[in-house]
Amino acid sequence: DGSSSSSPDVILIGGGQSALATAYFLRRTNRSFLILDDQERAGGAWLHGWSSLRLFSPAAWSSIAGWQMPTPQTDTPTRDDVIDYLSRYEQRYQFPIVRPVHVRSVTRIGDQLEVRAEDRTWRCRALVSATGTWRQPVVPEYAGRELYQGLQIHSARYVNAEPFAGKRVMVVGGGNSGAQILAELSLVAETIWITQQEPAFLPDDVDGRVLFERATERWRAQQEGRSVEDPTGGFGEIVMVEPVKDARARGVLAAQRPFARFTASGVEWDDGHYEQIDAVVWCTGFKPALAHLDGLGVIEPDGRVEVDGTRSVKQPNLWLMGYGDWTGPASATLIGVTRYARATVEQIDQMLAEPLPAAG
Ligand code: FAD
Repeated sequence: DGSSSSSPDVILIGGGQSALATAYFLRRTNRSFLILDDQERAGGAWLHGWSSLRLFSPAAWSSIAGWQMPTPQTDTPTRDDVIDYLSRYEQRYQFPIVRPVHVRSVTRIGDQLEVRAEDRTWRCRALVSATGTWRQPVVPEYAGRELYQGLQIHSARYVNAEPFAGKRVMVVGGGNSGAQILAELSLVAETIWITQQEPAFLPDDVDGRVLFERATERWRAQQEGRSVEDPTGGFGEIVMVEPVKDARARGVLAAQRPFARFTASGVEWDDGHYEQIDAVVWCTGFKPALAHLDGLGVIEPDGRVEVDGTRSVKQPNLWLMGYGDWTGPASATLIGVTRYARATVEQIDQMLAEPLPAAG
């Protein structure tokens, strides 16, 4: 029945790694919960990663709570390894997941939150938003972009290099997506790389483990009220996975600073330098996908929600999981999300144990 509704204690919106890690700890309480995900199948954002995407760290360092990712064929897992892992994880713990359900809005009704999809509603006392970022790709403003006639895609929609073979392709963005996609494109296309600053490459022996250790240090410091001056070690720095090392050996990792404007056929700089370009791949990041929370009045001008830990300051029965450093250092990674999932569930369990305030 499409109009049916139910009222579990907790609803999780999103069915990616963040929701599953939270569900793992919820399952160990006796709270009822439901996961609502708008994909056809398990895997969250990994379903949309490009085919050759490589993780930063080995399987043991790319796992969520309770059950570790099986060791894959390659030194670091691929996107398909992660999708397979998350699918099996869901089945292993028999999580109650409804798919595909796109949550459109959440409204407060007394002590409960009402969660609305197309033709269904649910109510809960505690809500976990774990909707990730891939639905909100960011493309920076460049003058004349509307004039440009070539192909443009964001890394969110990039699948493989095939459509770009033999072309002149401009990759914009100096993070890991930019470096990995540039590395792949440069095997079949002529590439130009545009980055805001000189790209920051991590030493060859630094992988996801080191980044996670640094994030842990930041998290400890936060817990203890210290501040850490650590300008390096953000996930924005480039991890030298094999395909990127190979691109370096081929000499294609040279980046130029941004151009001034687009023309119909390419881009030009203020000094008159011009490059003809057949296609642009924007590897310029994402914003949190929080439109479903609009009605709660919690979205700040910067597009985020003000949180204390993972808990919304303005709506204390709302928690935000896995969006990035603002929901906890390394919280947007498989290994990093566990500690926030555990702490979030402890808070939810505590809140649900409090008696409801008398009506009136
Ligand atoms: P998602 O995986 O995005 O899951 C959210 C789910 O919610 C999705 O299914 C989405 O469709 C759904 N959803 C959104 N809005 C709604 C709605 N309104 N209603 C219902 N459902 C909704 N991470 C690592 O841990 N290790 C790595 O080594 C690593 N390497 C990376 C390398 C590259 C090059 C890139 C680009 C990323 C890498 N990541 C890595 C990051 C990882 O891909 C994401 O951070 C992760 O997928 C976030 O998980 P999530 O569960 O928070 O969100």
